[in-house]
Order: sequence, then C-alpha cells, then structure tokens
Amino acid sequence: MRYHQYYPVDIVNGPGTRCTLFVSGCVHECPGCYNKSTWRLNSGQPFTQEMEDRIIADLNDTRVKRQGVSLSGGDPLHPGNVADILRLVKRVRAECPGKDIWVWTGYKIDELDAAQQEVVDLINVLVDGKFVQDLKDPALIWRGSSNQVVHKLR
Ligand code: SF4
Repeated sequence: MRYHQYYPVDIVNGPGTRCTLFVSGCVHECPGCYNKSTWRLNSGQPFTQEMEDRIIADLNDTRVKRQGVSLSGGDPLHPGNVADILRLVKRVRAECPGKDIWVWTGYKIDELDAAQQEVVDLINVLVDGKFVQDLKDPALIWRGSSNQVVHKLR
C-alpha cells in the first residue's frame, strides 16, 4: 500500500482528536473529487512497517489523547489496499484498546467483497458511497454529499 498524507494529530476528519491516514488508490473517479491526486495506486509514498508502528504508537501516546484513527484517501477499501488496511485495523483492535476506527470508502456497504467486509467487521464507523456533486451539501457532517451514509457499526 502507498499513502499521501499522515496527520498524527487531526481534529477535522472525524470526531475528537485523531490520527488520520490518506491512502493512495481509488477506482471511483467521482466528478468533483476533492482528492484526485490520490487516485493512482502507485502515487504517494510507500506505507512502511515504520509508518504502521508509528500510527500504533501515536494512538497510545498519553501526552496527546486521541479518540481513534481515520482512514481515508483515495479509498482504503481499494482491492490493492485491503490486505494492509486489514493488518492495520487488526493491530489497532489488539494494541490500542478504546480507540475507534473510522473508514471512508467510495463503495457502498452492500457491495463489499469478503476481504473488504473483513475490514468493516473490525471498525466502528464506515462512511460509504461515491461523492455526487449534485448532492453536495456543506452542512453535512463527515460526508460530502447526501447519498453517502455514516454507518455506526459498533
Ligand atoms: S471515492 Fe472519494 S477519493 Fe475516490 S474519487 Fe470519489 S471522492 Fe475521490
């Protein structure tokens, strides 16, 4: 997997103070996408073991309390990202008790394959669906257009 940005302390991408990762790779090509530079799977920089370890360490850093981690992009559930995202969310579950996991994807929750579903089974919130420019509403919280749904899973 590759990624574009990592924010160790973020207060805009999800509730509370969070760690946020924007991964590379998205097949949805939504007109009006806010993050076109992330579409190519080979854009950005490699997501290394060091980065994975850093996210876990940041989530457990008691000096700046984080509510959890936000995974966005790009699309964390791009088939090319799912294996690495699954490993990361498994580690957050095992090593970061009490931290929540939010994921943004262009897929709809009812069209996920088994591998994508395995990730979703471990997270707290999935914000799903493509961005639709005609349904854009700046008043919406955590989503850009009204077709997208914030699924609170646990
Ligand atoms: S799913 Fe998100 S990142 Fe992908 S094209 Fe649509 S708005 Fe852009």
